Amino acid sequence: MKFVLASNNIKKLKEMREILSELGLEVISQAEAGVNIEVEETGSTFEENAVLKATAVMEATGLPAVADDSGLMVDALGGEPGIYSARYGGEECKTDAERIEFLLRNMEDTDNRSASFVSMIACVFPDGRRIVTKGECTGLILKEPRGSGGFGYDPVFYLPEFGVTMAEMSAEEKNKISHRAKALNNLKEELKRIYTI
Ligand code: IMP
Repeated sequence: MKFVLASNNIKKLKEMREILSELGLEVISQAEAGVNIEVEETGSTFEENAVLKATAVMEATGLPAVADDSGLMVDALGGEPGIYSARYGGEECKTDAERIEFLLRNMEDTDNRSASFVSMIACVFPDGRRIVTKGECTGLILKEPRGSGGFGYDPVFYLPEFGVTMAEMSAEEKNKISHRAKALNNLKEELKRIYTI
């Protein structure tokens, strides 16, 4: 059975292939399915955006499609930047480093450093069935970046149980404990009920 990943992100494709191939399911890219869709994320939640992206690609290809939407939620900022994580700080912040700087400035006056990365994954089928799973990873926002791995907010996202930031972990380590890996594994469990190995 083939699934299409509703994203052009090579890293996400690799991660999904590895996890879902254990079920005997094949994950192909949008390009391999012959479509190139850039869906506008107009939803007001991670779930809505993931479902929007997966539905558009399912409709264009006629195949089950999987999409994820993720971001950072900071407690002291009432859950910001949330669904706006990639665009946090607007036009003023064009790079990950600038967005981190903006985040740290907004947290200057608070000692509450609790935050979580959230990933919602939607899998939609041509017959209308839909599976949505969540993965969450909790941590603390440091006052200065540390490490050069990963992407996005990884250099300021500290994991107390590991004693490192996500940017100080190897990609393999991160892929075992990340919000996305957890959501994908939850999806795998749900798909197991539908498909047997
Ligand atoms: P997307 O859902 O992959 O487009 O991610 C949205 C945004 O959330 C990214 O551009 C990052 O700013 C942030 N983000 C999501 N996942 C991660 C992560 O694993 N590490 C760091 N930042 C992340």
